Amino acid sequence: MTRTTIFSEEHDALRRSIRAFVEKELAPHADEWEAAKDFPDWVFERMGELGFLGLHHPEEYGGSGGDYLTMLVREEEMARCGSGGVSMAVSVQAEYVTPPIAKFGTQEQKERYLRPALAGRRIGALGITEPDAGSDVAGIRTAAIRDGDEYVVNGSKTFITNGCRADFVLLVAKTDPGERHAGISLFLVDTDSPGFEVRRRLDKVGMWPSDTAELAFTDMRVPAANLLGEEGKGFHHIMWELQGERLAAAAGACAGAQRCIDLTKGYVEERRAFGQRIADFQATRHKFAEMQTSVDAARALVYETALAVNAGEYPVREITEAKLLATRVHFEVADTCLQLHGGYGYMMEFPIQRAWRDSRLARIGAGADEVMLDYIAKHMGF
Ligand SMILES: Cc1cc2nc3c(=O)[nH]c(=O)nc-3n(C[C@H](O)[C@H](O)[C@H](O)COP(=O)(O)OP(=O)(O)OC[C@H]3O[C@@H](n4cnc5c(N)ncnc54)[C@H](O)[C@@H]3O)c2cc1C
Repeated sequence: MTRTTIFSEEHDALRRSIRAFVEKELAPHADEWEAAKDFPDWVFERMGELGFLGLHHPEEYGGSGGDYLTMLVREEEMARCGSGGVSMAVSVQAEYVTPPIAKFGTQEQKERYLRPALAGRRIGALGITEPDAGSDVAGIRTAAIRDGDEYVVNGSKTFITNGCRADFVLLVAKTDPGERHAGISLFLVDTDSPGFEVRRRLDKVGMWPSDTAELAFTDMRVPAANLLGEEGKGFHHIMWELQGERLAAAAGACAGAQRCIDLTKGYVEERRAFGQRIADFQATRHKFAEMQTSVDAARALVYETALAVNAGEYPVREITEAKLLATRVHFEVADTCLQLHGGYGYMMEFPIQRAWRDSRLARIGAGADEVMLDYIAKHMGF
């Protein structure tokens, strides 16, 4: 049985070209970038040049005008680069920051931010989370107060992916600090604006090559023309954005889990104990069968949900379920695979430790498991 029937010949051709790029131009650098805890900006430019950042974005602004399933193809193939950090940084550019500009932006904003971002010439970051408000987005405190033709922004953000290297930030702020959801608006902020500061680059458990920043804004003036979408509608706009972010995370998680299985199958077929291959213990084979079943089930949910999105539906509950299930499966699979490597799995020279560290984040980022469970229960009528 073929499980990839949702993809056309064009998708398959796209997959071959992304795979060739990832294997030739990214994977050979994965160890070096991990050690440096950084990777060069040319990755964005090169991916922009190849058209991989704008797969389903409008051709008018330099995208390829493909369908939504092209996103799945890139997320799946990026898992082969061997660095969750690089995959995440690229996803932020292609699936977090640019879709809201394409959907809510003015023509001028699309020219200034979307076009160069799809080309990989301007790098974007998404600024939602604050030191005192993560899951509770409506609890953010960064204020953007209107003053003539500008907004004056004061506040801070934390855990911002691409925040150190970004040329601009899609900033979520309160235009009415007295309100919760109704007080939120979005802005496109140039990082060379006076009052913008990268306060700190954060050190983290996994995803090492991606930069994670703490940002501060002090009397930072943002032109009113940089308001993205409607004032006071930013919460709805960003909730829409989060659905795409979550489905991309789910697709990447399934591919990451599959990569762990494939890596580990090779290992247990080589390694011997008690006079036989580790692969020959029934306990080992059953672990693989359990893992593959979980990955196939999660992937089926991701594909079905992506097909619905592709058909113009907005399946929030299914997106949430897919994100919850796939990212849990990814971490559980990575953990089992590390276990199957024994002590070698705990050594930094074996790739499984990186996959294990990298896989942990997605159960927190883009909405923690508990927040996902709350959404699903709410959509069930609780
Ligand atoms: C490496 C990394 C990269 C990130 N990149 C970005 C980025 O680019 N842009 C950005 O804006 N943010 C980013 N984030 C932030 C991320 O989205 C938040 O960490 C996440 O939303 C959780 O927020 P928090 O960390 O403030 O946790 P909190 O909101 O403080 O929650 C802590 C824990 O409390 C529990 N909890 C919270 N709410 C509930 C609830 N309703 N019911 C039950 N339990 C609950 C959960 O267990 C949760 O994990 C990133 C985070 C990391 C670690």
